[in-house]
Amino acid sequence: MKVNINEIPPHGLELEEIDSAKALDIERGDIEFIRDVRIKAGIKREYDSIRIHLDIESEISFFCARCLEDESMPFSEHIDIIKDAKEEQIIDLTQIAREEIIFAYPDRLLCKADCKGLCQHCGRNRNLHTCRCEDNHGSLGIYIDRLDN
Ligand SMILES: [Zn+2]
Ligand SMILES: [Zn+2]
Repeated sequence: MKVNINEIPPHGLELEEIDSAKALDIERGDIEFIRDVRIKAGIKREYDSIRIHLDIESEISFFCARCLEDESMPFSEHIDIIKDAKEEQIIDLTQIAREEIIFAYPDRLLCKADCKGLCQHCGRNRNLHTCRCEDNHGSLGIYIDRLDN
């Protein structure tokens, strides 16, 4: 989706594109896009500024970094960008969306923010099972948890 800024009508331009994650080159080892990526873009010129709005929607699947369960969740980003009209004549909206997607990747993917993870002692998923290991190991368990965060 390339736009020549001199061809943007006064009321702006609305564009939409659906790309595979492969075509966008946004795949990462620990993330799988299970739906194609829908990019909706609005672009408008105001004097020397180009206002861009991007809505990016898809769905990803991944392994939780704490409990290692296979999870999926919607991936959605809404971005507003202002560019200087004097800098670029051609604006590649797909390329901007690609950079924003990569930038938005969380460092650690969790099934839920308060995922309890695996017990350091018995290996059980602590979201599903309650074990008494921590009682027995006392502060060591808590110390390992803090390091993990
Ligand atoms: Zn988890
Ligand atoms: Zn345990």
